Amino acid sequence: SLDKDAYDITVISPTNYFLFTPLLPSTTVGTLEMRSLVEPIRSVCRRKNARFLQCEAQELDLENKEIIAKDDQGRTYHQPYDRLIIAVGSQSMTFGVPGLEHCNKLKTITDARETRARVIDCFERASLPTTTPKEKEKLLSFVICGGGPTGVEFAAELYDFLVDDLPGYFPSISRDEVQVSIIQSGDHILNTYDKEISSYTEQHFSRSHINVITNHRVRAVAEDHIVYARKPTKDDPNPEEKILPFGMCMWTTGIAMTPFTKHLKEQLGGAQKNARALETDSRLRVAGVPDGSVYALGDCSTIMNPKLVRGIVEYFEEADTNHDGVLDHDEFAHLSQALIRRFPHTEMHLSKAGEIFRMYDKDGTGSIDLDEFRVLLSDIDQRSTTLPATAQVAAQQGKYLAKKLNTLAAHSLGMPGNAGDGGSVPYDEALARFHYSHLGSLAYVGGTAVADFGDGFLVKGLFGAKYLWRGVYWSEQVSFRTRALLALDWTKELLFGRDSSRF
Ligand SMILES: Cc1cc2nc3c(=O)[nH]c(=O)nc-3n(C[C@H](O)[C@H](O)[C@H](O)COP(=O)(O)OP(=O)(O)OC[C@H]3O[C@@H](n4cnc5c(N)ncnc54)[C@H](O)[C@@H]3O)c2cc1C
Repeated sequence: SLDKDAYDITVISPTNYFLFTPLLPSTTVGTLEMRSLVEPIRSVCRRKNARFLQCEAQELDLENKEIIAKDDQGRTYHQPYDRLIIAVGSQSMTFGVPGLEHCNKLKTITDARETRARVIDCFERASLPTTTPKEKEKLLSFVICGGGPTGVEFAAELYDFLVDDLPGYFPSISRDEVQVSIIQSGDHILNTYDKEISSYTEQHFSRSHINVITNHRVRAVAEDHIVYARKPTKDDPNPEEKILPFGMCMWTTGIAMTPFTKHLKEQLGGAQKNARALETDSRLRVAGVPDGSVYALGDCSTIMNPKLVRGIVEYFEEADTNHDGVLDHDEFAHLSQALIRRFPHTEMHLSKAGEIFRMYDKDGTGSIDLDEFRVLLSDIDQRSTTLPATAQVAAQQGKYLAKKLNTLAAHSLGMPGNAGDGGSVPYDEALARFHYSHLGSLAYVGGTAVADFGDGFLVKGLFGAKYLWRGVYWSEQVSFRTRALLALDWTKELLFGRDSSRF
């Protein structure tokens, strides 16, 4: 969305393609081809007259405004910038579990290729006459660590393969011999979705003979088995360890900082306190960068919402226009609107001002006093969670930032060398904060899909939900080319089955 006439754009990335991750699980059993999910960055750059450098950002020189990047030969290069946007994503969280080198992961194209090869290898080796029954049992055990959307969708794709293709391709293996297990540390799988969606998915998996083991943690991974145990409780602080052999183990839990983000966090010292991501303000400016010229978005960043309760007196006095020491209904409604404008994350708490007013007018006087207002702000502060690490958030942040930078450029503000430039910070400050609109969460659960659109609007495995899910992601593609490739892949799968060849 950046205005190519206003900016000289340089994109630095060690991968020269954009990957559409939401459909990555479908590539692991051959439903989709990997090429159908990638768009060359150069084709995007061409449209923007942007320069692409296949390098990895290593360090940030804040003083000289340069990014220090390394090519694949280890040679470094200094790229100057006026404004820097950090969008380096994340890597898998290990939680200190030893042996994760024995697990497959599902974040990159390489991960997907390795997973697909491993899945097919397990079936090929299990169907050899030289394989013993014990080896066969182990090879046909697929263990998934983590019951979030990635783990669930991988299990769902495996299930589709078992139902649609296994009998034809591997007649010597029966469905009953294949065990798919999901180990989830929480009470439920898909626990960021509505409870009804989690329960529906658990029941659906139970009918599909996918073994969901909740409230258990993986303690270690060995070459061919995991060690796991129930989460310790007061009554049982040292639960017994259990062993689950596997032919393939998928690690899908959590996200952590990349080495670049970690390095930058250390460089910025006390201004950065979050262990998972770079902290930004609500205009996506990285905390601790004095001139506000460095932005971060997507999985590598998190917006720090200010504690509203700290500004309680200021907000209250501003809103109390008749100075009677309490807020009446109209004053409260105006204040709610002002707070939403100033702190967009409060919208979900304050948009129904009338309802909130009645709820917090505890003594029923028809007004809200300072103490009642304090309780309300504390509740909002407590309920304000960080945004999820999803493509939906990253894409909205990208569009927001591009629009903002275009506005700054259109007004010739904040660009070094512009006469009368007052510096970027005050102008940036005058523009709107980032506001996230949640459009809903989707997940494919094998044969069907679930969706949580918020406010209790749920789709739980309706007839055709699979096509709704496909349709949404099809429409989200960045190019017509990938749309055409996806449509071809789905047609190929329908006509000829999944491609089980292994390269
Ligand atoms: C299997 C899977 C399924 C998912 N499904 C969904 C879904 O259904 N819906 C949804 O909303 N989200 C989904 N997500 C999450 C979504 O993929 C991420 O939230 C999103 O990709 C984040 O975008 P990003 O631009 O921040 O990071 P990324 O997409 O990870 O991109 C980061 C880029 O930075 C590059 N990079 C890394 N380090 C450096 C460096 N040092 N220098 C330069 N470049 C660097 C990387 O090569 C990469 O190209 C899924 C994720 C996975 C793994």
